[in-house]
Amino acid sequence: MSSYMDAVREVEKILWPRPMKLFTAGPVACFPEVLEAMRIQQLSHRSKEYQELHRDTVKRLADFLLARKATVLLIPSSGTGFMEASIRNAVTPKGKVLVTVIGEFGNRYREAVERNGRVPVVLEKPLGKPVLPEELDDALRKNRDVEAVTITYNETSTGVLNPLRELAKVVKEHGKLLFVDAVSAMGAADIRVDDWGIDIVFASSQKAFGVPPGLAMAAVSEEVFEKAKSIPERGLYFDLLEIREFLVKQWSTPTTPPIPQIAGLNVALRIVEKMGGRERWLGMYAERAERIRRGVQELGLKLFAEPGYYSPTITVVYNPPGVKGPVIYEELRKRGIEIAKGYGKVKDETFRIGHMGYITSEDIDALFRNLREVLISLGFKPAA
Ligand SMILES: *Cc1c(COP(=O)(O)O)cnc(C)c1O
Repeated sequence: MSSYMDAVREVEKILWPRPMKLFTAGPVACFPEVLEAMRIQQLSHRSKEYQELHRDTVKRLADFLLARKATVLLIPSSGTGFMEASIRNAVTPKGKVLVTVIGEFGNRYREAVERNGRVPVVLEKPLGKPVLPEELDDALRKNRDVEAVTITYNETSTGVLNPLRELAKVVKEHGKLLFVDAVSAMGAADIRVDDWGIDIVFASSQKAFGVPPGLAMAAVSEEVFEKAKSIPERGLYFDLLEIREFLVKQWSTPTTPPIPQIAGLNVALRIVEKMGGRERWLGMYAERAERIRRGVQELGLKLFAEPGYYSPTITVVYNPPGVKGPVIYEELRKRGIEIAKGYGKVKDETFRIGHMGYITSEDIDALFRNLREVLISLGFKPAA
């Protein structure tokens, strides 16, 4: 050990002055094995060794996403980078996009469309509700000139999981491109890229795969690359044709990739395999989410999302009468547990419990034990 390890302890003290169990919306608690892999010394992203890591990670993620025809891309960015890329590469300047909005992240997509000089046509649902296939079909009948449809698979602000498979079917019946923000879904909710005909689906490393932030992942269809060829001003950083070229020619990226995160994601995908494969892993997420919802309801609290569309990664809960969400958040923090505050328009009405990444059964027990005590201390009488 060098004599400068003190420097590490000093930084650790800034970021982690005391232990904390995370039930956040992202970044989330990472698997210890993932963090361990990220300590491996770096080397050039043009080296043969790096290329092998990149190739293997892409292959594992493509298997997980059932993307054999689509191309899996890894880029140095947060997830929103691919949101921007989808618009710049696959929508004609001034072209129209049907943006479905069921919460804050749908609004972000609308903004990405506008700020890149394209025109959003918005299908918006009341908060807590999903987009239904017949509603999407209706909107597409009324707006035949849109080039693409955007869907937030899992709306992190309301805890709603959209029925992506059914919605994708409608989009394909209308022959439109489909862009999916799966930032808080990929790794926890089923995604079948080829079968469902998804054109771009993207996510960030710091959500359901339980890896630190800095890496964005996506699967991109051949149609998108074809369309991109007709759009000259794709920009420098998110030019999907160039990013694909580097992938195909040298298993790497045009700009320097976050090698530690890619090593971490590779480990996460190996853990999936060692756990028994994608179905088992997704099952683990479904069970964990079910347990969190049960715990919330047993306390007598109400879920924000419409039944039948519950998120596998985040549970949004109405504040109990007379109790403020941020107070619950602060009280839990004092007890070494960090949940997520309400977000967007419902920030004053709700609080959120994230259940992504490295969370043990004991962590969940501790969460509910403490939440119960906090609620009682704030004058709320839990149901059971
Ligand atoms: C977290 C989140 C984002 C933003 O992701 P970044 O990695 O911060 O760019 C976008 N959409 C959804 C649904 C999210 O949960």
